Amino acid sequence: MIYDADVAVVGLGSVGSMATWRLAESGSSVHGFEQHALGHDRGAAGGESRRFATHGMGDPREVPLVVESQRLWRALESRTGRDLLNLNGGLIIGPDGAPSLVNAQTSVTTFDLPHEHLSSKALRERYPEHRIDPNHLGLLDPLAGYVRPQVAVVAGVEAARSLGAAIHDHVAVLAIEPDADGVTVVADDGTYRFGAAVVAPGPWFRRLLPQFQTRVQTRRVLQAWFIPRNMGPYHPDRFPVFQRTGDVRVYGFPSIDGATVKLGVTAKVPEIVADPDNLDPSITAEHREGFRDMVAEFLPGLYPDPVRISVYMEGYSTSMQGLVGPVAGLPHVVAVCGLSGTGFKFVPVLGEIASEFAIGARTSYDVDFLLPDRPQDTWPIGVS
Ligand SMILES: Cc1cc2nc3c(=O)[nH]c(=O)nc-3n(C[C@H](O)[C@H](O)[C@H](O)COP(=O)(O)OP(=O)(O)OC[C@H]3O[C@@H](n4cnc5c(N)ncnc54)[C@H](O)[C@@H]3O)c2cc1C
Repeated sequence: MIYDADVAVVGLGSVGSMATWRLAESGSSVHGFEQHALGHDRGAAGGESRRFATHGMGDPREVPLVVESQRLWRALESRTGRDLLNLNGGLIIGPDGAPSLVNAQTSVTTFDLPHEHLSSKALRERYPEHRIDPNHLGLLDPLAGYVRPQVAVVAGVEAARSLGAAIHDHVAVLAIEPDADGVTVVADDGTYRFGAAVVAPGPWFRRLLPQFQTRVQTRRVLQAWFIPRNMGPYHPDRFPVFQRTGDVRVYGFPSIDGATVKLGVTAKVPEIVADPDNLDPSITAEHREGFRDMVAEFLPGLYPDPVRISVYMEGYSTSMQGLVGPVAGLPHVVAVCGLSGTGFKFVPVLGEIASEFAIGARTSYDVDFLLPDRPQDTWPIGVS
């Protein structure tokens, strides 16, 4: 059998760019396919910044993957000379006993992670930019910070290219056809044959991985940018990335551009995307007022009217964790999708895991909790 390369990577977004780099680094020949421009902001990687947190607020089994990702982020920075990960610290704020705080504390204890507990008084004194109530506690993660997602995607592809990967950008893959000997990839620019394929289409998963449509939903995700009344307190050296839980579910970043502060809120009602090729960019008065009221109440050092609101999209699984690994009925295919709004922090290691599965059909990482064929609930029919 003649192959065009060992492995195809379909979708050079957050995970696919990293998988292409890790495959090329391991000595495999690889072709990467991306339907849009490299580093575009139409999918899950837009908006210039992503939180990186070691403690997490969810499943402690993610912690070893995040720790390994930090090593890989640094390796990618060294290879490309780019500034990708800034560990300026991360703060979780919430009422005493809030599940996210408890989960983060479990990670801290289980993995003996560096941390600092902050009382409501200490929070008020050190971080007066946040409104803090008497029942609020804080957990500071000194190994948290932010990653630059679009630059990271470009860096991953650059690294892969420098190691010999062939990159097909502005080329959509129309079909993947696995069989006993490998995978045929039908793309806009031709038909190719590979030993294996990593399929990482992000919010567009339904076209190539329709079997996941009852377990993953593509949703709109909004982020908003605000101008501080005074810039000083929002400098990355002063203002950690943060996540508030309990009374309000908002996360945010220091001023990375020296002019604005970006915030995101967890939508109370998910906004389902019916067609990812036609993402609805509209912003309603309700969206604006929601951001304005939240900022006025919880972050009074910012002018409350957003100067920019942008719309992105992401796949959400029923368990709020990604699907990563081989898929029953699709030989030689490794799928990655449904990273559920928290995947960017560890995309280098997800790329590594996908590359290990593609080359050797197994991975050295403990990822049973992410395997696509694990038992999982389904979303109600009609809202996938
Ligand atoms: C607004 C927002 C904020 C977030 N904040 C955080 C955060 O702070 N911290 C964190 O850890 N995570 C965060 N996340 C989650 C994280 O960004 C995502 O989990 C991650 O980016 C998903 O990566 P992906 O590779 O699955 O998708 P993408 O990055 O969207 O990549 C998929 C790629 O596949 C391409 N593609 C799809 N179909 C085809 C095809 N048929 N042919 C060719 N190419 C194709 C697409 O064009 C795209 O480039 C956030 C997500 C969003 C949307």
